[in-house]
Amino acid sequence: ITVNARNSDHGRSIVEAVDALEDTQVLNISDRTFLMHLGGKIEVRSKMNIRTRDDLSMAYTPGVARVCKAIAAEPERAFNLTIKRNTVAVVSDGTAVLGLGDIGPEAAMPVMEGKAMLFKEFAGVDAFPICLDTKDTEEIIETVKRIAPAFGGINLEDISAPRCFEIEERLKRELEIPVFHDDQHGTAVVVLAALINSLKIVGKEMKDLKVVVNGIGAAGVACAKILMSAGVEHVVGCDSRGIVHRRRDGLNASKRWFAEHTNPENLTGGLTEAMRGSDLFLGLSVPGVLTPDHLDTMNEDPIVFAMANPEPEIMPEAAFGHARIIATGRSDYPNQINNVLCFPGIFRGALDVRAREIDEEMKLAAARAIAEVITEEEVSEDYVIPSVFDERVAPAVAETVAQAGRRAARPVASASRNRRWAPRPPR
Ligand code: NAP
Ligand code: MG
Repeated sequence: ITVNARNSDHGRSIVEAVDALEDTQVLNISDRTFLMHLGGKIEVRSKMNIRTRDDLSMAYTPGVARVCKAIAAEPERAFNLTIKRNTVAVVSDGTAVLGLGDIGPEAAMPVMEGKAMLFKEFAGVDAFPICLDTKDTEEIIETVKRIAPAFGGINLEDISAPRCFEIEERLKRELEIPVFHDDQHGTAVVVLAALINSLKIVGKEMKDLKVVVNGIGAAGVACAKILMSAGVEHVVGCDSRGIVHRRRDGLNASKRWFAEHTNPENLTGGLTEAMRGSDLFLGLSVPGVLTPDHLDTMNEDPIVFAMANPEPEIMPEAAFGHARIIATGRSDYPNQINNVLCFPGIFRGALDVRAREIDEEMKLAAARAIAEVITEEEVSEDYVIPSVFDERVAPAVAETVAQAGRRAARPVASASRNRRWAPRPPR
């Protein structure tokens, strides 16, 4: 028999139970997840066969030399004559991988390979997992700059705060291709999409919302900023010590930003004080910090996005009856807020118009596109965000982002436009 164990403990208890049966013995155990990873999950393929001398002398030397010279004379032609227009480097230093923390570059590889798979499956983007053996901000910046010629975009991934802020900011400034830290902005885009649809249900407006952002690390800061770009005016940010405020010592740059730009000057205390009279709780912190009592102090029709992984700030069953709309990062509950709704389509759109950056407008456009996949009639408390398997999402995001990105684009002069990517046929 084949047994699908949930995890190794579960597997072990099944083995013990089987062994305890008379005349039955476990001969071999295999783990489907490990089997899936044997030899890695992705590969590079060539687009044409090399069968003849002629093929060889065009694809490689001597024919290729003329193509090289054309690019040397006009480097922008790399977008047309190499894979650059379809490639993204998924760059990590392995310091903030999933909920596992600093596990190092080798151990981060399976996640980055998985991300590359998602890029390809959802948006036809050729992404390369690149895990760096350094945690030094300057070395990471330097390395990414030096590998950039081969890529049309850089997806920074699972690099811990606060280094991730400077690394992204500097690379954005110093490179001419889009640089996007997915843990920050991918999350922010999907959160905004879920909020746009939630507001249709509760009939509130962005500018009137009182928002609590609990956890102001990589994801929390980016979420607060995109919400403010979308019209939110009242945000209170909390970290592990409670509401941040100007008089607190030892604030890092991003926390100081909250203290100076969003948090009301005289508001101090903890999550309990912050929650009173709020409309939206945005949890990007740690499991279990929110209670039903907190929710009962919110305004009418509370919205709760509890996104700590793998366990949210409050479990949906505990929040049920105390909040109108509940979303988490989990796939086993309704309303899963998952970055995969954003990053494939946003890079597809940016690559298609050869954007030099993914700017605020493009992120807002991506959020609107994700939200609009759900029609006004369909939107409901349990359906504010499309499923990660909804094949309409990536093309819709790509199209809208490309439109918004034309301003941030290179002139596509001698280049024919990229072959449009079409969603794969249903299996
Ligand atoms: P991060 O950069 O390490 O930030 C974590 C933040 O949480 C820090 O500001 C930390 O405060 C704060 N925190 C810790 N304990 C707290 C507490 N008891 N109360 C309030 N705040 C507390 O991590 P991140 O990358 O932003 O991710 C944060 C969480 O969100 C993780 O669980 C992650 O898996 C999840 N996440 C989910 C999604 C998704 O569902 N789509 C996307 C991104 C992130 P201090 O600075 O005081 O330590
Ligand atoms: Mg990540």
